[in-house]
Amino acid sequence: MNGVEVYIGLGSNLADPLRQLARAVVELASLPDTSLIAQSAFYSSRPVGPQDQPDFINGAVRLNTSLAPLALLDHLQRIENTHGRLRNQHWGPRTLDLDLLLYGDRPVQNERLMVPHPELANRDFVLQPLLELNPELVLPDGRTLAVLRHQCPNNGLKRLEPATNASPP
Ligand code: ATP
Ligand code: CA
Ligand code: CA
Repeated sequence: MNGVEVYIGLGSNLADPLRQLARAVVELASLPDTSLIAQSAFYSSRPVGPQDQPDFINGAVRLNTSLAPLALLDHLQRIENTHGRLRNQHWGPRTLDLDLLLYGDRPVQNERLMVPHPELANRDFVLQPLLELNPELVLPDGRTLAVLRHQCPNNGLKRLEPATNASPP
């Protein structure tokens, strides 16, 4: 398939997070002009920001897509909405969060979209699943994922057993 390799970060801490993520992976795999290359294990992590909310489940997928960056973002936001995502509190609890982490080696900067995702290097729950998907990954600015992971503080990330991933959508 002629397209670009992109990485999407998934997160949820409401309404059966494992199920939300499993469903979202299926939905991402069926986007138009897109195919799923690989999915990471799921991890549990402590929330970013407000601490009075449940732990998160996080993961990432590697896709090949011919969708342009903003068209892809439109789809991610549409999928979040179909999962009942409400936007009330910044970094608050959510049924599904889909972040466009990397779009090939192309940086994108506009009012709706910043790629690479600006917080990528500071989040173990993003870097660890990315490493699993592609240990050789290099950011557009030349930094390697391996070095970023090494420098990133640990925030209580726990890899969930594969059996927990296997719950059907
Ligand atoms: P964070 O971005 O720190 O992970 P968040 O995921 O909670 O926080 P949201 O409320 O989901 O933030 O998104 C706010 C806005 O961020 C979206 O409306 C979207 O336009 C914008 N945005 C900018 N860059 C990206 C990106 N790489 N992926 C997804 N959304 C992005
Ligand atoms: Ca996010
Ligand atoms: Ca988001």
